[in-house]
Amino acid sequence: MNESARVAVVGAGAVGLTTAFDLAERGARVTLFERDAPGGGTTGRAAGICYDAYAEDIDVAVADRAMDRFRSLSGEGEFAFHETPYVFLAREGDDAAAAALEESVERMRVHDRAVSLVDAGELADRFPIRTDDVLLAGVAENAGWVDPAAYVDLFVEKCESAGVEFRVGDAVSLRVDPPGVAADDVVTARFDAVVVAAGVHSRRLLADAGHPIALRPYRAQALVADCDYRGPTVYDATAESYLRPHPAGVLAGDGVEPVEPDPDDWDPTADDWFVTDALDAVRHRTGIGGFDEATVETDSPVDRAWAGLCGATPDRNPLVGAVTERIFVAAGWHGHGFMWAPAIGERLAEAVLGDGEASIPDAFDPRRFDGDEEFAVVEGMTLDGD
Ligand SMILES: Cc1cc2nc3c(=O)[nH]c(=O)nc-3n(C[C@H](O)[C@H](O)[C@H](O)COP(=O)(O)OP(=O)(O)OC[C@H]3O[C@@H](n4cnc5c(N)ncnc54)[C@H](O)[C@@H]3O)c2cc1C
Repeated sequence: MNESARVAVVGAGAVGLTTAFDLAERGARVTLFERDAPGGGTTGRAAGICYDAYAEDIDVAVADRAMDRFRSLSGEGEFAFHETPYVFLAREGDDAAAAALEESVERMRVHDRAVSLVDAGELADRFPIRTDDVLLAGVAENAGWVDPAAYVDLFVEKCESAGVEFRVGDAVSLRVDPPGVAADDVVTARFDAVVVAAGVHSRRLLADAGHPIALRPYRAQALVADCDYRGPTVYDATAESYLRPHPAGVLAGDGVEPVEPDPDDWDPTADDWFVTDALDAVRHRTGIGGFDEATVETDSPVDRAWAGLCGATPDRNPLVGAVTERIFVAAGWHGHGFMWAPAIGERLAEAVLGDGEASIPDAFDPRRFDGDEEFAVVEGMTLDGD
C-alpha cells in the first residue's frame, strides 16, 4: 500500500489515537471514527501504570519502546511521565506466587530488565510500605505512571496537527470488501484499509463483518482515595490488587470479575465490595488509616471509584495485525493496552502501510484463533506465565 493511502481507524482510545497519528505521520490520509468522545472507552478508565517488567522477549520489546516513547513525550502539553518503581510481591504462605515471581524475575533479567529480587527487609529499607507479610518481591526500575486523560488530550492535538480527520458521535460498522465504514448502514466512505481499535467492541464489529476474533470482555475496577502516599506502585500477587501514588493520594485497583459483562450493557460504577476491599488493601500496605467504613456515597476519603471493560484472549497475547488483507485489528490487552499503546501504534502503522505484518510478532496474529474458542479470563498482572 502506498504511503498516501486512505486509512480509517475505528476507536479513539489510546491505541486508535496513537495508530492514527503514526499513520498520518507516515503520510497516510487518516479518518478516525469515535462513537463517544476520544478517551471515552476503557482508556479514560485506566490506572496509567506503565512498566517493562515482562518475562517474554516480545512483550519486553513492546514495553521497552513504549516506555521510551512515554518519556520522550513527557513535557509536551500537560502530559507527564512520573518515574515510579514497580514492586510486585508475594505474601508469606503463598509459596506458589513466590515461585512464579522468582521465575519471572529470572526471565526478565535474561532480557536485561532492571529488575531485582528482594526480601522483606530489603524492601522495607527502600520503600515506605508495610513489608512484614512479604515473602518475596521484585522491584522493576523502568516503570512509572501517567494520567491517561493527558495522553488522550496530547494525541488528539497531535492527530489534528498531523491532519487526521475526526468523525465523532456515531457508532460505525465495518465493510470488508472493499474496506469501508458505515454509519446507520450507509457507507460513509471507502478506504484502502481499516484499523479496528474499538476496544472490547472490536469483537462485535468484526463478527458482524464475518471475521470473529477470540476476545472476551471482563470488568475491572479502580478508585482514588485522599491520603498522603509517596511510595512505589505495588502489585500484591497474593491479594491480586495494586496501588500507585496519585496527585490526590493513592489509586487502587483489582483484577478480574468472574462474570462476563455485555459490552453494550454493563455497570460503570464501582461495587461497594470493591471499595471496601480496595481501601482495606491500601490500609494494609501503606499503613495509612482513616478508611474505615468508607463507601463511595458516604463521607469518605474516596474521591472517585469506577469500573471499566478490558479484553482477554485465550493465550493472554493481544490480537494485533491483519484479519484480512486490508482490515486490521488491535485489541485484547489483558489490562496492558494503555502502557503498550505508544509502541503498538507505530508497529501497526508500519504493518498497514508496509509489507504486511513485518514488525508485529507472529504471537500477536489475530488469525491464530478461529474466534469461537471458549476460555477462562486470566488478569494481566498475574505472575505465572507472564
Ligand atoms: C480499572 C482499569 C484500570 C486499568 N489500568 C491500566 C493500567 O494501569 N495500565 C494499562 O496499560 N492498562 C490499564 N487498563 C487497560 C487499558 O485501559 C486498556 O487496555 C486500554 O485503554 C485499551 O485501549 P483501546 O484504545 O484499545 O480501547 P478503548 O480505550 O476502549 O477505545 C476504544 C474506543 O472505540 C470506541 N468505539 C467502540 N465501538 C465503536 C464503533 N462501533 N464506532 C466508533 N467508535 C467505537 C469506543 O467508544 C472507545 O473510545 C485498565 C483498565 C481498567 C478498566
